[in-house]
Amino acid sequence: MNRPFTMPMDTQTSTRASDYFGSLTFSGDVMLKRLPPEVFMNLQRTMQRNLSLDRSIANTVASAIKEWALEHGATHYCHWFQPLTGLTAEKHDAFLSPTGDGGAIEKFSGDALIQGEPDASSFPSGGIRDTYEARGYTAWDATSPVFLLRGSDGNKTLCIPTAFVSWTGEALDQKTPLLRSIDAVSKHALRIVRLFGDTKTSNAIATLGCEQEYFLVDRELFLQRLDLVVCGRTLIGAQPPKGQQLEDHYFGAIPEAVLAYMTECEERLFELGIPVKTRHNEVAPGQYELAPTFENSNVAVDHQMTTMHVLRSVARKHGFECLLHEKPFAGINGSGKHNNWSMSTDTGVNLLDPRDDTHPNMQFMVCLAAIIRAVDIHADLLRVSIATAHNDHRLGANEAPPAIMSIYLGEMLTSILDQIVGGESKKSAKTADLDLGARTLPQIPRHSSDRNRTSPFAFTGNKFEFRAVGSSQSVAWPNTVLNTIIAESFDFIATALETKLGKNPSPAKMETVVRSLLKEIVKTHRRVCFDGNGYSAEWHAEALKRGLPNFPSTADALPALATKKAEKLFAQYGVLSQRELHARYEIQMEQYCKIVQIEGRTLVQMAVTQILPAGLRAQGELADVVASTQHAGVPCPESEAALRDLAGQVAALRSAASALDSATSKDVQAIEKRVRHCRDVVVPAIGKVRELSDALERIVPADIWPMPDYASMLLIR
Ligand code: ADP
Ligand code: MG
Repeated sequence: MNRPFTMPMDTQTSTRASDYFGSLTFSGDVMLKRLPPEVFMNLQRTMQRNLSLDRSIANTVASAIKEWALEHGATHYCHWFQPLTGLTAEKHDAFLSPTGDGGAIEKFSGDALIQGEPDASSFPSGGIRDTYEARGYTAWDATSPVFLLRGSDGNKTLCIPTAFVSWTGEALDQKTPLLRSIDAVSKHALRIVRLFGDTKTSNAIATLGCEQEYFLVDRELFLQRLDLVVCGRTLIGAQPPKGQQLEDHYFGAIPEAVLAYMTECEERLFELGIPVKTRHNEVAPGQYELAPTFENSNVAVDHQMTTMHVLRSVARKHGFECLLHEKPFAGINGSGKHNNWSMSTDTGVNLLDPRDDTHPNMQFMVCLAAIIRAVDIHADLLRVSIATAHNDHRLGANEAPPAIMSIYLGEMLTSILDQIVGGESKKSAKTADLDLGARTLPQIPRHSSDRNRTSPFAFTGNKFEFRAVGSSQSVAWPNTVLNTIIAESFDFIATALETKLGKNPSPAKMETVVRSLLKEIVKTHRRVCFDGNGYSAEWHAEALKRGLPNFPSTADALPALATKKAEKLFAQYGVLSQRELHARYEIQMEQYCKIVQIEGRTLVQMAVTQILPAGLRAQGELADVVASTQHAGVPCPESEAALRDLAGQVAALRSAASALDSATSKDVQAIEKRVRHCRDVVVPAIGKVRELSDALERIVPADIWPMPDYASMLLIR
């Protein structure tokens, strides 16, 4: 038991990943070895069924966790939680406590495991928690394993995933509503599978796998750019001569330094039990992607937060900065986080797997119809779940899904929907094997759905891929919304079917009733399905005709959280009370304004202290040249014109910067008005300064330009 712990990869290169997978989590084998059998069983039950922890075992579990953590060299523990900042928070406590007689002992009780009380006053609460009552509690979510997080100097902290609530029990975090939404969708999914005769399943869980896109830039260059340091994206920067036009980066060979970085990230994620599976170059230069194997969605959300942390911290060790921002560079692709969602029963059936024969698979069709209905009715909520000032730069641009929420189904399912509405029962349009045109290659059965990168919400064979999610975002909120809206549709369908079917319906009755309900749902809601090019102007016009909502910016999307429809939905499924929902609305509005304001101020500072001085220096040099040339009796009308042009551009930039300065300094009290002010005045003013600065960058001598340009950040590796 007291064997000193050494990291496998530090010692032997031959160690297999599976040997250290999860070695820094208190789960599986570790738990089995260290807990008495009855306690182990009890905890396993808690984890598998999303139950709350049995207090009577807390001390035993805490003591085993403490021993394990100390053996691994941990000195501190923390309740790790996800406040409404969208980040993670930790408050560290030492295991070591003074005994009062000059000594110290290592203490960690069941109470310390189960509950914490961080000083919560500076986390956003959207008015839920009055500052005079700043107490908030963190409570262990025993469904997510405890883990050891390494710091940059190798020290380790025991992290206990927790929910964060106010003293009145209201959610102050992302996890609490997520857990509630998981319960809601599980409950109603179970009703659906029961209707189809499944008596064995005792739980249906939401599953989630998130593909994470990110950029790597040289850290030294990063530190020379105030915009990257403060805002995570370049606010200015002229296009390099070569961007992604040649499309030579996508899936290309991974540069060596980057590969070393990825390998270390994978090792770090593996030891945390995070099952990363794929890595590759993305479309834009300097852009990469990492994807895990899917997991139960609560754990997947925690793992996603940790993944972002690891990507960032390992990058620094390798001389990179990892940019998770949705749009770090203009003119090339931004980054998203494809949120792959499905549901599985504890008997191993994926509810979104059409399996072999799609058409008779009524249960699958019912689940599909429920999702179509949910996305159509609550497109506004889905849209607002991914609405951030960052993501505004990506959505609707010609590389990311549009802000209009629609579903891509693919040819086969589309034809099935046609048949449902037409009333004709035919064999499903099974797609043929894909002939790869070379005899040596195996015949790969073509995926039932083909790829469509332009859809925000695409069916990809056995799951839905919500692609509009932003790369830096916590996926907790989009999944909370997704689970809740789907729970409501499952509930609607289960209720309708239960009423119409009665007890023990015959198979024939079952088929007739299901078919007619499907027909009704498909007819009403299929307007949200669209398989064409989501980037095209035709789609925008068509979507308008179909009456689908289009909220181009966060400011337009946010009011969806303040509607009666939203209040009713979240309250009905026990996910968020009216006050909790309103708190989120306020916080999202505040955050939008803060981000836009900070960007505005950063850009003013860069313009005034870096760009304008560079412009003036260039102007001075050119003026000297013109004067001395003319003095020597040589006419130089071109240089004179260039000087006039340069001076004009510098002056224009000065007035644009000054306009941006006043826009960001304007004191707008009411938050709704401030949101609109940001959208209508500050954002365009930022755009104007950028346009003028980028024009200047193209004519100012390179040795005078005061910061790294796009080419050096993106193309040199
Ligand atoms: P692709 O998007 O290229 O089809 P994959 O099929 O490997 O790639 O899936 C991409 C992501 O979707 C991965 O993170 C994977 O774990 C996840 N995924 C696959 N099946 C499911 C599922 N049933 N539920 C949730 N996520 C899933
Ligand atoms: Mg994908």
